[in-house]
Amino acid sequence: MNADYLQQLKKGRFKITPKRRAILELFDQKDKCLSPEAIWDHLKKTFKRSGLPSVYRNLEIFVKQGILVRVDREGRKRYYALCHDHSGHHHHHIVCVDCGKVDDLPECPLPDLKGIKGFKILNHSMQINGICNECSSK
Ligand SMILES: [Zn+2]
Ligand SMILES: [Zn+2]
Ligand SMILES: [Zn+2]
Repeated sequence: MNADYLQQLKKGRFKITPKRRAILELFDQKDKCLSPEAIWDHLKKTFKRSGLPSVYRNLEIFVKQGILVRVDREGRKRYYALCHDHSGHHHHHIVCVDCGKVDDLPECPLPDLKGIKGFKILNHSMQINGICNECSSK
């Protein structure tokens, strides 16, 4: 597994517990966005006593540390995916609506937003949806 992820955790003074390591390894293997329920499905054999709420808590810690990003998909379920850019630079993500693969966009495609009347712009977020090459050649 990419050691960067563990470094990011250490930076935030979070312990690298076996469960946190298992969650990150799962994301690394699957290389796509995952729901907390799906993650718990994989973990529950090994970590019987922890439960889904602790998976949620850890996922939010990973988001705060810039390791994971939240992903919107159809339906109300929440999804998470690995962010491969650890530079801390502002960037956006593209999601394959078919397989759930997530990638970083190299540049922010939005123009300068200073001209919006009645607001001072603080930040913005958006997700680009698409179909990855693998899925479109199926
Ligand atoms: Zn990213
Ligand atoms: Zn795809
Ligand atoms: Zn942007």
